[in-house]
Amino acid sequence: MKAVVVPGKQKGYRIEEVSDPIPGKDEVVIRVNRAALCYRDLLQLQGFYPRMKYPVILGHEVVGTIEQIGENAKGFKEGDKVISLLYAPDGTCHYCQMGEEAYCHSRVGYSEELDGFFAEKAKVKVTSIVKVGTNVPDEGAVLVPCVTGMVYRSLRRAKLQKGETVLVTGASGGVGIHAIQVAKALGAKVIGVTTSEEKAAFIRKFADHVIVGSKFSEEAKKIGDVNVVIDTVGTPTIDESLKSLWMGGRLVQIGNVDPTQIYQLRLGYVILKDIAIIGHASATKRDAEETLKLTGEGKINPVIAATVGLDEIDKGYEILKDKHKIGKVLVKP
Ligand SMILES: [Zn+2]
Ligand SMILES: [Zn+2]
Repeated sequence: MKAVVVPGKQKGYRIEEVSDPIPGKDEVVIRVNRAALCYRDLLQLQGFYPRMKYPVILGHEVVGTIEQIGENAKGFKEGDKVISLLYAPDGTCHYCQMGEEAYCHSRVGYSEELDGFFAEKAKVKVTSIVKVGTNVPDEGAVLVPCVTGMVYRSLRRAKLQKGETVLVTGASGGVGIHAIQVAKALGAKVIGVTTSEEKAAFIRKFADHVIVGSKFSEEAKKIGDVNVVIDTVGTPTIDESLKSLWMGGRLVQIGNVDPTQIYQLRLGYVILKDIAIIGHASATKRDAEETLKLTGEGKINPVIAATVGLDEIDKGYEILKDKHKIGKVLVKP
């Protein structure tokens, strides 16, 4: 089969013929319906992910159809449509038993220790797969593990209440445009922040308010008390994100455009304003199932900038980096 393979650390990727995967006892093999490009791929190619084995098939977001089942892979059958979490937990430890498998000590990541999904087929551990209902389109399902389900988890951890105001930075990005929809689906009022008037027109279809520009906190405060910020950008926006929050606010930090940059946090600001800063390890099965449900109900609609084939992966990354694109870039093998 054809696959996008990373041969070594900081060695780029190659489109290669590799042998078809064969399922182990606790694994299934899926035909990849859709995979998705992500900024994390670019960080992985730059060598920021120390757990990567080489060579490794790139790509960590997938929806596919089960073709083969290992002998101990119970609960699934050929033809089932499934997504995979970004990692495979052991399914047995204390955290896994509590439904917090994102914290499993023994978890192994796709496109890290395990091969990923930019290929015609993929081998997936049964502990990481979640069944997808027939009412959920592939384009919506593929976004769950790394985008919509991850945002859902972060808003759950932020204890978002109906009627609260959520501000989303990078609102036109693959994460941002869907973060707006997840927050709306959970009953929030949403402010989207973007850099151009051109993109603002599109974001207005989803958000209640749109602010254009990099100094957004003053305008956000005029709209009302901002209770939660989902910052999908990172060091360029975190300062304004923190300034936007009213007391008791929660900052959900998702973006990290430049991992080499450091942000100097004034502790007094966090202490006296009762601010909570929340990371985002990644979605669990519970988060994935609940987000698939919202997607199936039409409350979260996939916004797709482009869909490319495995041979067009270069073009896909050009679109991913294009500041004018809106939404997520998918791969259809
Ligand atoms: Zn991703
Ligand atoms: Zn575990």
